[in-house]
Amino acid sequence: MTQPYDLIIIGSGPAGLAAAVYAQRARLNTLILEKAMVSGGQVLTTYEVDNYPGLPGIGGYDLGLKLREHADRLGAEFKEEEVLSIQDGPVKRVICQGNTYETKTLILATGAIHRKLGIPGEEKFAGTGVSYCATCDGAFFRNKTAAVIGGGDVAVEDAIFLARMCSKVYLIHRRDELRAAKSLQENLFALENVEILWDTVADSIEGGNAVEKLKLTNVKTGEQRELPLQGVFIAVGISPESGAFAGLVDMEHGYIKAGEDGVTSAPGIFAAGDVRTKGLRQIITAAADGANAVTSAERYLAAH
Ligand SMILES: Cc1cc2nc3c(=O)[nH]c(=O)nc-3n(C[C@H](O)[C@H](O)[C@H](O)COP(=O)(O)OP(=O)(O)OC[C@H]3O[C@@H](n4cnc5c(N)ncnc54)[C@H](O)[C@@H]3O)c2cc1C
Repeated sequence: MTQPYDLIIIGSGPAGLAAAVYAQRARLNTLILEKAMVSGGQVLTTYEVDNYPGLPGIGGYDLGLKLREHADRLGAEFKEEEVLSIQDGPVKRVICQGNTYETKTLILATGAIHRKLGIPGEEKFAGTGVSYCATCDGAFFRNKTAAVIGGGDVAVEDAIFLARMCSKVYLIHRRDELRAAKSLQENLFALENVEILWDTVADSIEGGNAVEKLKLTNVKTGEQRELPLQGVFIAVGISPESGAFAGLVDMEHGYIKAGEDGVTSAPGIFAAGDVRTKGLRQIITAAADGANAVTSAERYLAAH
């Protein structure tokens, strides 16, 4: 009978790949399961990453490849598998479509997906004017005009952040009041270069090689208008990829409850990256989580 792995890492975005590097260096017998054909996670869909220290302006796809190559160089074992569910116990059973794998510890690093609007132009201009992350891409729109679509905390925070660098920011919201925290709203309303377009939905994003305008409709009056701009930031929500772990670990709004050490409510199961409860979802924080989670897994293995 085959021995259980010391560690199985689910997901090979920045969190899972950083965990793979740390696990190889800790000499843990590790397997990484990734449902996609290519490792890198959300980073692969990023046109340019300009906030990962030491690699200014690197293409997202290149960064994804580099992270994977690093783990490969250290001899990490990968399998292309989608994890469907987990059976918990002293030895944990990881159930995939055709195979089941056994392990003493687990790192859940399945990330998140940014919700799309589904309007014409959104896909075409993704990475060349349409963004789902103001922290990541705001700096590319310095002294330009941008719009944020959404009405929650993230949308308002994005608009405030962009107002520091853009000449003009529109906040486009389909209702006549924002869902965001009142304190955030006060900060937003005080900004002279932010204009809020209430009761308004985006119909399409248009342009040639880059974004040139956003077409809008006022849902109360039916009036249509076009905004000339260069950037569209879509902040209509982010969904953690945690469905396979329902009932396994405690969650909050679908995010796995875990602190910086990755420790979850289930002994021997750790969470890393965008899928866990945290303040800042970025490549650098995901990678840090991967390192911390392996350290926690090592401690657990030493004690059991
Ligand atoms: C468009 C865009 C631009 C961004 N730009 C930047 C930027 O410039 N700078 C920055 O710091 N951050 C940026 N981010 C955020 C950054 O990409 C994320 O914070 C980071 O990728 C999170 O890493 P992760 O490993 O936690 O999750 P992910 O990157 O989401 O990776 C999770 C992996 O798990 C796999 N997976 C999911 N479910 C399963 C399953 N059941 N079984 C097996 N595998 C599974 C997925 O296929 C994926 O490969 C951007 C995000 C987006 C969407």
